[in-house]
Amino acid sequence: MSTDRENNSLSAKVIYDLTTFTHVDYPDHLSCIVWFSGCNMRCDYCYNKDIVFAKDGKYSYDDILDFLKTRVGLLEAVVLSGGEATSHELLPFCREIKKLGFKIKLDTNGTNFSTIKELLDANLLDYVALDYKAPKDKFT
Ligand code: SF4
Repeated sequence: MSTDRENNSLSAKVIYDLTTFTHVDYPDHLSCIVWFSGCNMRCDYCYNKDIVFAKDGKYSYDDILDFLKTRVGLLEAVVLSGGEATSHELLPFCREIKKLGFKIKLDTNGTNFSTIKELLDANLLDYVALDYKAPKDKFT
């Protein structure tokens, strides 16, 4: 059963945008991409700055879950991207996605270790794409 905190958090509009279909973001899986607003880093080379500096988004978690209910049997997986998805509450959202039968891929900069561990410990992630970040001088 969901707690009040989880129900409240699922109505927060923290999702910048939704890509309703992709066959390239999760290898061998038809997916959608959930783009979370905001990021805890400010990489010079970021190509998603509009998302990184967004305070909120177009959609709530509930909006995405309503969309996913219409895609059961059509899509196989949900990609959580951004921005940095782990800057937001993911546990209750991922539990609801799993209840609908989707796999979950997380795109992350890997800095929120405890959130990622929590999701892995709860067996909620099927794929983690870890994108290492560093200042420019470290790449030379
Ligand atoms: S971690 Fe990713 S989304 Fe965040 S600023 Fe860096 S490149 Fe952009």
